[in-house]
Amino acid sequence: MSETAFHPGFLAQPYWWDAAPPETARDEPLPARCDLVIIGSGFAGLSAALEAARGGASVAVLDAGPLGGGASSRSGGMVSSGQKLVLSAALKGLPVEKQVAALEDSKATFEFLKDLIAREKLDADLQLCGRFFGAFTPKHLDTLKKNAATLHERTGVTIRILSREEQHEEVGSDYFHGGFVVEEYGGVHPAKLNRALRDAARGAGARLFSHARVLGTHREGDGHAVRTERGDIRAQHVLYATNGYTDRASPWLHQRLVPVMSYQIATEPLPPGMMDRLIPRRRMVTDSRKELTYTRPSPDGTRILFGCRPRALQTEPKYLAHALRARMLRFWPELAAVRITHAWGGYVAMTADRIAHVAEKDGVMHAVGCNGNGVALMSFLGWHAAQLILGRTNRRAFFADIPFPAVPPLTNTAAFVQMASAAYHLRDFTANPAEVVAERLGRPGRPITTTSRKEAQG
Ligand SMILES: Cc1cc2nc3c(=O)[nH]c(=O)nc-3n(C[C@H](O)[C@H](O)[C@H](O)COP(=O)(O)OP(=O)(O)OC[C@H]3O[C@@H](n4cnc5c(N)ncnc54)[C@H](O)[C@@H]3O)c2cc1C
Repeated sequence: MSETAFHPGFLAQPYWWDAAPPETARDEPLPARCDLVIIGSGFAGLSAALEAARGGASVAVLDAGPLGGGASSRSGGMVSSGQKLVLSAALKGLPVEKQVAALEDSKATFEFLKDLIAREKLDADLQLCGRFFGAFTPKHLDTLKKNAATLHERTGVTIRILSREEQHEEVGSDYFHGGFVVEEYGGVHPAKLNRALRDAARGAGARLFSHARVLGTHREGDGHAVRTERGDIRAQHVLYATNGYTDRASPWLHQRLVPVMSYQIATEPLPPGMMDRLIPRRRMVTDSRKELTYTRPSPDGTRILFGCRPRALQTEPKYLAHALRARMLRFWPELAAVRITHAWGGYVAMTADRIAHVAEKDGVMHAVGCNGNGVALMSFLGWHAAQLILGRTNRRAFFADIPFPAVPPLTNTAAFVQMASAAYHLRDFTANPAEVVAERLGRPGRPITTTSRKEAQG
């Protein structure tokens, strides 16, 4: 890709950080002891910190890097009621009562986040703008129709199926072969949400420390010794909220999580009127590819944010920006003249059973395993972990009540993830070879015709 595709002020960091950067907090020494040490300052860790501190516990949140520098401030910020779990094969074979609990708790994650933002007055740009799910092939449309019916039946959301012509009401693109809309879903500004949670947790009395990597924990009396790069802390309880950034501080968790990179780019502000053509109703947009695409307007409606997990041997942001932009131009060729201002990646955590887990192992709690869909889910799991630790609930959520299997040996290595992503790429190629080849060759898509646009707008 030529350098002209990049804005001169291009940054290899999240667009979200322009408004709410991660935070350095390393002046204060760590406390010698506290009730609860939380490892990780993403949505899970901070939501747990807020709940525990409100419940009267003394809480220290430790992060290996800056506060909020993990996936939570790098996310696409799309929010749903756990539609991936509802639709995935993960629930197949589970007893009916577990499946019912999984659906109930998936719905609860979304309600929890909306309630948390309202209750705590979090400045997070929550927009309940709906989401369009686009079909990558005509056959995928049949699957999406079934998925839409399942989501409606099991979670009560409002669904609208759209043909390829009707989709122009939602996306100014012929990339998709129809799709469906869920009205209730939406999006947040993830870095603002993270910052607002930091403020709320501190307001409740929690103390937050950056650049304090935890090296390990061990039992000491009736509590735990937490060993960190900045000294040791004695804690009654410990919670790992490290998700896709889990390191060997907990070898047990490390064997259960596969870190997978997801990438995004942001465009410069679009020329006036363009967003009305690209995403007229300002929805979140995802597709049915194995190499999932997710795209959305920035919360202020000025830019396109475009993400996917492309097969790539290089992880250098400008190289990846090339791959993402090629796909973006398949969606919307008119973006060819719009420059890229930001490109970044972040890690999500996959599990062997494709289910997130919150539970205790040898007296240490964890809330991990977002499987790529964690804005609402991980916030909920952090909260639930704190409730379990403080003994504030007798009810264990579905995610707390299932075994947490280890991943097969070597599957949590970068080489394996590359192989898996090549397999995903092949699946997309088999489903729609012409499209995958055109994207690889960097051929822009065809703009939709004025007639089809007018027809769609009625
Ligand atoms: C590019 C991208 C796009 C995404 N898009 C969406 C989306 O649109 N919708 C959605 O629902 N989800 C999305 N996700 C997933 C979602 O963002 C994550 O599931 C969620 O943010 C995870 O939050 P968390 O608190 O569990 O972990 P994180 O926010 O990743 O925080 C984990 C923290 O743990 C810290 N840590 C790790 N090890 C240690 C240690 N030993 N000592 C101290 N600290 C440690 C890390 O430094 C990190 O800050 C996306 C993720 C990425 C990366």
